[in-house]
Amino acid sequence: MASDCIFCKIVAGDIPAARVYEDGEVLAFLDINPLGRGHTLLIPKTHFARLEDCPADVLAAIVRRIPVLAAAILLSVGASAYNILCNNGRAAGQLVEHVHFHIIPRFPGDGAVTHRPPLTLDTSALADISEQIKRHIKNP
Ligand code: 5GP
Ligand code: ZN
Repeated sequence: MASDCIFCKIVAGDIPAARVYEDGEVLAFLDINPLGRGHTLLIPKTHFARLEDCPADVLAAIVRRIPVLAAAILLSVGASAYNILCNNGRAAGQLVEHVHFHIIPRFPGDGAVTHRPPLTLDTSALADISEQIKRHIKNP
């Protein structure tokens, strides 16, 4: 537990939350500022700041529960689509530094997750970036 972490406090029961699922490894609860009805956060009970800090077994425990939770959430709010979002780092919008997956039910035209137009990169720029990434991949 990280003493200054709001999600660790929720896990410990020191801060209330609308819990929807819990087992020994993960906790799911409703986002306090939802992008839509049913917007849920799924977290490991152990504190890790970012996705790449999580051991593989913790990641597996989280990811394998997403489809089950998503199905229940969609049924509950009458949605048929959802986004999974995992923000890592401030520039990506991560405000709470305890790894979490957003499960966001979506309705046609709700605008809950916005997109800007894509960059235009030519094939040589794409090749250059892919080479850089390949060189930096460690222990896949
Ligand atoms: P992030 O921007 O870090 O990916 O998302 C953090 C999310 O946690 C936000 O959507 C925010 O509304 C939610 N959140 C922050 N503090 C609390 C809290 O105390 N309780 C609950 N239920 N959600 C919180
Ligand atoms: Zn934490």
